[in-house]
Amino acid sequence: MTQRRRIGLLGGTFDPVHVGHLALAAAARDALRLDQLRFVPTGRSWQKSGSGVGAADRIAMVKLAIAPMPGCVVDEREARRAGPSYTIDTLLELRAELGPEPALVLVLGSDQLRNLDTWHRHDELLRHAHIAATQRGPHRLAGFDPAVETLVAAHGRDALPDEPSGSIVFFRMAPVAVSATAVRALLARGERPSELLPPAVLDYIDRHRLYRADGAA
Ligand code: ATP
Repeated sequence: MTQRRRIGLLGGTFDPVHVGHLALAAAARDALRLDQLRFVPTGRSWQKSGSGVGAADRIAMVKLAIAPMPGCVVDEREARRAGPSYTIDTLLELRAELGPEPALVLVLGSDQLRNLDTWHRHDELLRHAHIAATQRGPHRLAGFDPAVETLVAAHGRDALPDEPSGSIVFFRMAPVAVSATAVRALLARGERPSELLPPAVLDYIDRHRLYRADGAA
């Protein structure tokens, strides 16, 4: 029996994309047997204040980063949309385009799952997609706030079922201790954190003088 098509969605500011994002993408693709993983850079994030680096540069860096990764593509819809980037709008658009059949899987680090109850219309997300989360740093996949705990209790499964949406699963990845905040701080100090960024992304940052303390971005 062939598996229902599975499309993973990895949303983020990617400001800039770093090795933690790539490890998360690879782990999700393999653990969840995704046919495709879409990186979805936010336009104007409603939860994060911007670094001053625009969506066009963030998208360009994601494209460079995932070029060697089979099955990974960039979905630019949130960056093109006017106003704040809400995941529910993205899911509704994707369902209108792709129809009800494929499984959509929101891929999240545990820091994001833990604050899911602050997301716009979060109680509707599972109608349109599954959620797959992995441990990130100290943010545990247990002991959630009541609203998230209720969702996990009702929708948690050991593995993704053969359904297009509606379940929450956890998957494992080897920890990669990096955040974009830390990367930006290093770059602002004039450092070149080559172990935290794919070479093509570091090269892009150099050429476009992004994240520098002198404000040249
Ligand atoms: P910032 O430091 O600016 O908040 P970030 O490094 O958290 O950024 P985002 O673009 O906000 O990066 O993250 C997008 C997604 O990737 C989120 O689901 C987040 O949990 C996940 N993620 C980011 N870094 C890692 C990492 N090192 N390991 C696992 N997941 C990660």
